[in-house]
Order: sequence, then C-alpha cells, then structure tokens
Amino acid sequence: MEIVYVTYIRSSSYNNYDFCQQQYFINYVLGYPSGSSKKAEMGTIVHKVMECLARSKKAVQDNKKSYKDDALGRIRITKDKMLSSKYVDSLIDKSYEHYVSESSHKYAPRDYRDCVKWSHAALEFNKGQFDPRNRNVIAPEPHFDIEIREPWARYDYTMPDGSEVNGYLAIKGTIDLVTEVSEGVMEAVDWKTGRRIDWASGEEKTYEKLSVDPQLLLYYYAISKIFPDYNQAIMSIFYIRDGGPYSLCFDESDQKMFLDMLRTRFSQIKNNTKPRLISKNRSHWKCQKLCDYCKNNWEGTDKSICQYVQEKVEKKSTKNLILKKVLKELWIRSKHFVLIQKADVYFGLQELNHQNY
Ligand code: SF4
Repeated sequence: MEIVYVTYIRSSSYNNYDFCQQQYFINYVLGYPSGSSKKAEMGTIVHKVMECLARSKKAVQDNKKSYKDDALGRIRITKDKMLSSKYVDSLIDKSYEHYVSESSHKYAPRDYRDCVKWSHAALEFNKGQFDPRNRNVIAPEPHFDIEIREPWARYDYTMPDGSEVNGYLAIKGTIDLVTEVSEGVMEAVDWKTGRRIDWASGEEKTYEKLSVDPQLLLYYYAISKIFPDYNQAIMSIFYIRDGGPYSLCFDESDQKMFLDMLRTRFSQIKNNTKPRLISKNRSHWKCQKLCDYCKNNWEGTDKSICQYVQEKVEKKSTKNLILKKVLKELWIRSKHFVLIQKADVYFGLQELNHQNY
C-alpha cells in the first residue's frame, strides 16, 4: 500500500527527493512549509527584477502600455523607459522593498548591494546577451501543468474511505523565461543565485551532469509541449554567482530520456513506505546548514519537525498514514492548509471528513 498518493511532480520537488526523502515527504506530502533562508529570499528579489524586465519587453513587443506584476502591482511602460538604467534601478528597489518588508530576516545595506550586484551581473553578461530586454520574449514566467498520458503514468488510488481517485501523473512548474532565438528555435532561461552544486551528491554540476539533470529535462519536456511550433530548444541555466550561463541543446530523443527518468521517480515515490533520512539524529552538516526541519519544532511539541515526523512514521503502521498528497491538495484548495500545522500527521479519516473538503 502506498503512503504517498502522488498525483503530480513539481520541477522544484524532483531533485529534492534525492537530497533527502524525509525533507521531500515533510515539504511536498505533508505540506509543512519550509522557511526561506535570507540567501534564497535575495534570489527571489533578483528573479523578480528579471521577471519584470521580461514582462516589460513582452508588453513593448505587444504594444501594451502597462503590465501587472503579482508582487509589484501595475507598472506603466514605454520602450524608452524600459531601456533606461533608472528603470532597472527602480525595479531593484521595489523588489527589494517588497520582499524585505515581508521577511522575518534582518537585512543589512550589504544585502541590498549584493542584490544590485547580482542583478547587474545577469544583465550585463557578454554585453547583455541574457538581458530579457535584448531578447524576443515568447513568455515571461510561463506556468505549466502537463498530464503525462502514458500507461505507466496512470494512477488508480483507493482512498482509506474506499473512494477512488484516478488520473494521469502531471508535471507542474514555472520556467523563468522563454525566448525566440530564430525561426523554430527557442531558448529557456533559468536564473540561479545559488551555487552550481548538486547538494544530494555534493558534486559540482558540470556540462556533462547538466545534460542529464532531471529539472532541466523536465523544463525541456514542458516547453516542447507548450510551444510545439518550435522544433529545437536550448536550455540555459544561468548561475549568476557561480560560473554564468550553461547552455544545452535538447531534441526529441531527450523527451524519451526524461519520461524514463520520470517513470522511475514516480514509482520510487509512490512505493516509498518509509522516507529515508540523511541522518537519523540530524547531525549531518546538511541537516544543520540546509534544512529548517531540524531547527524548528513541530507546533505544540518540544520536538523538531523532522524528529516528530520520524517518530510517527516509525511508530504507526503505514496503513494508518492517510494524509496523502491528494488530501493535502484538497486541504490547500479548501483553505484548511494552516490546520495541517496544528494537527497530528496521522489524521483519522473521520477528522478529515469533518473538514468538508
Ligand atoms: S533534518 Fe536532515 S534528515 Fe531531517 S528532513 Fe532535514 S535534511 Fe532530512
């Protein structure tokens, strides 16, 4: 019996499973959010600048006078304004103010200077090669939600109450930017402000490793389905602070490679009855440095989130574990998400039924 009713895999979750199954389980199955580090928030600030510049360029291409950003609101735009350095500065300031005002971290002037530096490093690389304003923008931040219509991707779950949930596994995510290079050729760009390291293995991500990186292949698969008029795709992953852009060409044969990888991952996740921990007592440096679940306690207890979940999983038989992916999605949709944090991992079916999802 599966303990994880996985119905979709996110671009952000794919590699997380390799890093730590327990972290994946807590984050993506139980839906217990992990806090964002200050460095990750600073990455979000830079991403927002790049996104707004791409939206500006798309608006100018489409002869629109403004665009709306979910965080910064409506922004009026003209071609001259878009090309001015004052506009870039104002986007950096607005983005910085927005995210810092919502943050629980303390920011110092040096953090602001770093955000400015990183934004300009991406924009000025090779005379503006990756500046969205110099590109023909197909889509800024396209979201995707694609069903995998393969026999192996079919799921038929019997829920603990006997109800049936079925469908096809989907992949979901967002790509930072998709641009047209020439007729029939598109390029997707993914900005990274972290290090060029595979945190699961600790190894540097070389060209060779990136050519089989599941996240990049997932992005390639997604854009090939969303923009079928383009028969060639370049995937560029831009390590703003660690080596600049790495560009790879993918073609149809890579779709098959991706589906094979996804098939294996789907099977691994749904057949996992006991998520593995990086370290049973959380003493590993990755737990201490890269994970919040050993620092913060499960609400109402004196145990860390990781320890609390570990003990529950070890104590209970798997068939009692009914808080599954599907249920989590339903809870989020029904705005009961916050209750997850207050409740036990092992909900009784009756309790769930009382939430009227
Ligand atoms: S504390 Fe360590 S073992 Fe626990 S979820 Fe985090 S990374 Fe995994």
